[in-house]
Amino acid sequence: MTAVRNCLVVGGGVGGLSAAIAFAQRGVEVTLIEKRPDFNVPGVGLGQPACALRVYDRLGVLPPILDIGVHYGHMDVFDPDYNLIMHHDFQMGGGGLPAFCALARVDLHRILLDRAVALGVTIRMATALSGIGEGDGPARVTFEDGGTGTYDLVAGFDGIRSSVRDWMVGDMFGPRPSGFGAWRIQVDRPSHVTGMEFLQGIGGKAGAIPIGPDRMYLFNIRPERFDEFFAQADMHRLLRERLAQFGGYVREIADSLTPQSPIVYGALEPFLLPGPWHRGRAVVGGDAAHVVPPHLTAGAAMAAEDAWALARAVLDGEGGIEDRLAAYGRARFARNAFVYSFARDWLAAEQAVDSPAALAAAAAEMRRNGSRRIAVADRFLEDNPL
Ligand SMILES: Cc1cc2nc3c(=O)[nH]c(=O)nc-3n(C[C@H](O)[C@H](O)[C@H](O)COP(=O)(O)OP(=O)(O)OC[C@H]3O[C@@H](n4cnc5c(N)ncnc54)[C@H](O)[C@@H]3O)c2cc1C
Repeated sequence: MTAVRNCLVVGGGVGGLSAAIAFAQRGVEVTLIEKRPDFNVPGVGLGQPACALRVYDRLGVLPPILDIGVHYGHMDVFDPDYNLIMHHDFQMGGGGLPAFCALARVDLHRILLDRAVALGVTIRMATALSGIGEGDGPARVTFEDGGTGTYDLVAGFDGIRSSVRDWMVGDMFGPRPSGFGAWRIQVDRPSHVTGMEFLQGIGGKAGAIPIGPDRMYLFNIRPERFDEFFAQADMHRLLRERLAQFGGYVREIADSLTPQSPIVYGALEPFLLPGPWHRGRAVVGGDAAHVVPPHLTAGAAMAAEDAWALARAVLDGEGGIEDRLAAYGRARFARNAFVYSFARDWLAAEQAVDSPAALAAAAAEMRRNGSRRIAVADRFLEDNPL
């Protein structure tokens, strides 16, 4: 007999939708609440490594993802003038899977949402969690519209400012400003951009990920004041200034920016919840439990893995429900801690390049070690028995 007959999933991002599917396809009655009024998610694209694609396969959504996404197996690092520093062939994928498949975030959401709806998940938009009751047994929750419900499990995939995590640990643990921010924009893809690319600059980096037959997204990661507010009308000018040191197609894109350019900016606020990842019948996963710098393009991938692992632990694990949730948290903390520390080290190393001499030294080091270092992360990500 399963320990859980009904489940409330809080949050309709990649993690929440994946969790809803993972539970629903095992016969659990799932309600998903999302505080946004629609799924028109901001954010421009997601590279999904093979480990995430394996999860999507088990969730029954791999074919449409592979159909719509761009497959790639390498990354290149350049200097600001677009001279190649380092080439890396990802050691991931195989058996019919690419190392990476990248697609627009809205497309991944739509594919996951369609599958959740087809499985009978009840989706309630513009609905936010407001509280979880104390006490043993099934969780009694309240919603911001005044409604209530009782659930065997509350799966909090409600993102970086998670209400479920707040109920579990308050502000004892939570995201902290890193001092860096990420600018992104979806643009036309030059035909020679066929994999992930970075241009390492002085005081920041730019780069691109292909996400469609003729589309890619361009990003710029650099120091930014945490409390800075950028008006949308100024963003094209600000991003153009920030990209001034870069040549190649980055220069052309910078020159083409206009006030209408759909630029997205977000501060980087890394965070890893040490544990436990549950309290009573409430549990967290995805960005609610860990927010990693985007260097391994694996944040959403880890959210999908968390979702799958949670359903497996809850439905197939041993002991009472809290034992199962504790086992899930321990296993996922270990895996996410690797991704978190690897990505943070990479962020720190690239953002420490603050002079021409530092850039020359970083380039020499990358030529020596870069590909072998990334291969360590590749092998770790691949090593994930589902
Ligand atoms: C610059 C950048 C680039 C990135 N690139 C990649 C990449 O290439 N590949 C990759 O795998 N990852 C990438 N990531 C990471 C990825 O975006 C996140 O890790 C991922 O989206 C987290 O998914 P999630 O479902 O956990 O959270 P979210 O996507 O944040 O979803 C949480 C949802 O919960 C909702 N919510 C919040 N509170 C409540 C509430 N109280 N009640 C109801 N709903 C609520 C929110 O509205 C939201 O829709 C990148 C991140 C950044 C910053």
